Amino acid sequence: MIEIEDIRAREILDSRGEPTIEVDIITKKGFGRASVPSGASTGSNEALELRDKEDRYGGKGVKKAVENVNELICPKLIGYDVREQRKIDEEMLELDGTEKKINLGANAILAVSLGVARAAANSLSMPLYRYLGGSNARILPVPMMNVINGGMHAGNNLAIQEHMIVPVAKRFSDAIQIASEVYHSLKKVLTNKYGKSATNIGDEGGFAPPMENTREALESLEKAVEEAGYSKKVFFAIDSAASEFYNDKEGYYEIDGRRLEEMELLDYYREITEEYPIVALEDPFQEEDFESFAEITKRLNIQIIGDDIFVTNVERLKRGIDMGAANALLLKINQIGTISESLDASELALRSGYGVIVSHRSGETEDTSIADIAVATGCGQIKTGAPTRGERTAKYNRLLRIEEELGKTAIMGAKFG
Ligand code: PEP
Ligand code: MG
Repeated sequence: MIEIEDIRAREILDSRGEPTIEVDIITKKGFGRASVPSGASTGSNEALELRDKEDRYGGKGVKKAVENVNELICPKLIGYDVREQRKIDEEMLELDGTEKKINLGANAILAVSLGVARAAANSLSMPLYRYLGGSNARILPVPMMNVINGGMHAGNNLAIQEHMIVPVAKRFSDAIQIASEVYHSLKKVLTNKYGKSATNIGDEGGFAPPMENTREALESLEKAVEEAGYSKKVFFAIDSAASEFYNDKEGYYEIDGRRLEEMELLDYYREITEEYPIVALEDPFQEEDFESFAEITKRLNIQIIGDDIFVTNVERLKRGIDMGAANALLLKINQIGTISESLDASELALRSGYGVIVSHRSGETEDTSIADIAVATGCGQIKTGAPTRGERTAKYNRLLRIEEELGKTAIMGAKFG
């Protein structure tokens, strides 16, 4: 037995300077600490992020979530063997008793769930990816790096939220080198074209230049890649986060100064995927439009990723799989709230021939668990922002260490389209 002896939660800050929750799991053998991220362009079907709605921190405090961990979850879990991840997660689900985790808060539950996994791995003197993924976990993820920020993540006029580079290389460390060089080349391209203020950065560490449309962003990316000497080695990906520019009262998308209906938007996506080396497109339509997701998946031969539409929820993912909506899942552990349910979603997606991309949130902490989870699932892709800002580089640096640890056994993942 490796019994849980105590669980302590506290309020800390995330990368946007907002409060979030951190939890310590104490056992005689190993200690586990975990903290949870927070989104800005959140899906409406995500599990509940419990906020205090009091004066402090502009209503965003998480004291209630902290209290729920210390006073409700902790007494229930003391004495559990920390290796019983599934039982522990189910105990918390039962204690909460709601589908969206509205009583305890998904933030409270996830911090414990993740802390338990870390404490178990530490108790067994194993890295987290090995504990969660087993002896065959050896696939390093191809990074999808958001280097031009728009939408809810930046103060510019870009409707599309994320313009990412996807460096494909034999080793993860080579991919990181390419990405860093392209990032710096992009800085020069943007300064030359728009002036110094264009290199102010957005929430995920990418630049937030004063651009008006997506083609401008893609053109700059193309130039940056070319000038860094990596043409044909670096692909692009886009996260539209389309629910954010959908007018649901009148049923159109407001993008790049135009009002487009679903099939017009699809044509627009087709055009840009023909003009630029785009291998993946996330949330091209609003979160309830499974039909248009199915249509674009059928028509474009690229990876169509479901984020807000699936919210890492097995039931919504099953519906998507049945309809052929998207062909990949964006896996965000705080959308669903436990490690077990996140791994269920990943398993279902991979078994159904869907790709999986483990993802950060726009508000992050220094917690590096998603790097280990990407290797543990063997999904082969990760999205965790630009190769700058500590909360993002923490994940890339963790993956560099894992690559070193795995030595020759490490292989690179990838799956597009
Ligand atoms: C996303 O939409 O994929 C994303 C990372 O942003 P957020 O965390 O704001 O939902
Ligand atoms: Mg998204």
